[in-house]
Amino acid sequence: MPELVFFSGTMDCGKSTLALQIEHNRSARGLAGVIFTRDDRAGEGKLSSRLGLVTDAVEVEDGRDLYAYLVEHLSQGGRADYVIADEAQFLAPEQIDQLARVVDDLGLDVYAFGITTDFRSKLFPGSQRLVELADRIEVLQVEALCWCGARATHNARTVGGAMVVEGAQVVVGDVNQAAGEIGYEVLCRRHHRRRMTAATARAAALSPDVLPVSSV
Ligand SMILES: [Zn+2]
Repeated sequence: MPELVFFSGTMDCGKSTLALQIEHNRSARGLAGVIFTRDDRAGEGKLSSRLGLVTDAVEVEDGRDLYAYLVEHLSQGGRADYVIADEAQFLAPEQIDQLARVVDDLGLDVYAFGITTDFRSKLFPGSQRLVELADRIEVLQVEALCWCGARATHNARTVGGAMVVEGAQVVVGDVNQAAGEIGYEVLCRRHHRRRMTAATARAAALSPDVLPVSSV
């Protein structure tokens, strides 16, 4: 039975690496995939992983009908044995419905990869729709770690290293961003709730207020 599978996780947890691995394994068996992505760090029409691998993909714009795209692709003699949708949190809910229809009406497996929640720990609309529709949800347990060493389960948006909780849901940035720019950092829930990033924790540790009191 074809399936809609949602591979979810935080930023930096290896989602795109797994997407590329699935693509590699299937193309090595002679299968052809259609890869959708949106706002990949490598630029338009690319699916890349932090480990340096990259492949061509179809850039999904607002309003593109993914089901219609596949019907058109197949009717023009294109091959599609399966579909990969990376950065699926950026897709509109109706585009997730279209992916479910690809599974049901075209009989293709669809593997969607995305971040579940945004920097305020709220579900992205596309991810919410995936949770509602997916046949199966796989939570990726690749070791993304908070600065404290605990497993990172939440995404923080940072400006100059400090966590912010206001702003648009989608601002494309990356982990390891230069100071002063919008960046992202993965944190454990405890430190997401306390808004303690690596930079603010370091600053607090260096502050005289919290140094052990010396009696001399
Ligand atoms: Zn932590």
